[in-house]
Amino acid sequence: MTFYDQIQNCSWYKLAEQIDQRAPEDVHAALSSGAMDVDRFISLVSPAADEVLEEIARRAQIITEQRFGRIVGLYAPMYLSNSCTNSCVYCSFNASHKIDRETLSVEQAVSEASHLHDQGFRHILLVSGEDLEAVSLHYLKEVVENLRHLFDSISIEIYPMGTEDYRELAASGVDGLIIYQETYNPDLYARVHEAGRKTDYRWRIETPERGGAAGFRRIGIGALLGLDDWRTEAVYLAMHARYLMRRHWRSQVTISFPRLRPAVGGYTPPCPVSDRDLVHMLTALRVFLPDAGLLLSTRESKEFRDNMIPLGVTSMSAGSCTRVGGYTGDPASAGQFEIADHRSPGEVAETIKDIGYEPVWKDWDAAFIR
Ligand code: SF4
Repeated sequence: MTFYDQIQNCSWYKLAEQIDQRAPEDVHAALSSGAMDVDRFISLVSPAADEVLEEIARRAQIITEQRFGRIVGLYAPMYLSNSCTNSCVYCSFNASHKIDRETLSVEQAVSEASHLHDQGFRHILLVSGEDLEAVSLHYLKEVVENLRHLFDSISIEIYPMGTEDYRELAASGVDGLIIYQETYNPDLYARVHEAGRKTDYRWRIETPERGGAAGFRRIGIGALLGLDDWRTEAVYLAMHARYLMRRHWRSQVTISFPRLRPAVGGYTPPCPVSDRDLVHMLTALRVFLPDAGLLLSTRESKEFRDNMIPLGVTSMSAGSCTRVGGYTGDPASAGQFEIADHRSPGEVAETIKDIGYEPVWKDWDAAFIR
């Protein structure tokens, strides 16, 4: 039974009501019990828990230090292509937007990646829109094979693929997969994904399972924050992550917290998520999932990211550029979204040290599985 099958008995709207109806006693019961199940997690992210956010954050901090120590992994996204056949209403790369479309040649990809390597990165995240012709499996394998001598860990955040294709990428040197469901609300999902292969909710939600079956060491999920109620998204994310952890126990499951940022098209998030909401969501997930990697990108401001380091974050991007070829050139094409933390990787690493944590550029060596 896939996660999609499992949630067929679960109504987004009923779950949202259940979350709203939790009382302070439910929150206290959840916090005083040892094991955290989904029902208790519902209490933990309910409005009734807003009053005890400091307690949740304190627990998140203790758990994170116990499980991970005082470290923050650093990685860099690298955009291979902004060509896309989908029409996601919130994204600059939406196929109907009139922007310059570019795809890096393998040589250009190596040049961009070498720049990131020179800055200290040993974990790279390859990102692209969904265009199977511009970014074919063959192209991806060639890029990865040319980058693997530079990086100990190569992750992908591209379009969903089948298990066999993922196996080929894993054999080329990819060890991590990130795929956001964007929203777990199937009705909203249909509204914000207007055209293209991405309209298939089921194909997308089962992607992390195909990645797990292909043997990726790291599997990342997330919801695009601002599209719908963050509390309900958090409960679906918690259920999804726990499902993946149990089923693909050899892989580390990570959760990202992408808040919608300004992009071409001027989409306005219907359900804005405040800083306090994001702290609540991230720390509650840490309490529910002590071993999950929690990622915070440069979509967030430097002040917010610095404050979140002790509260549960285990990995951060740094010095990011969301334009294709933007690390070594000055392309005319638009970025996928605006970033908020403009510090260099070195500056981010220094700040992490100042806060009393260790920046980790390399946390994996492919030799472990050779
Ligand atoms: S979110 Fe991804 S799939 Fe959707 S338009 Fe942007 S690049 Fe394409």
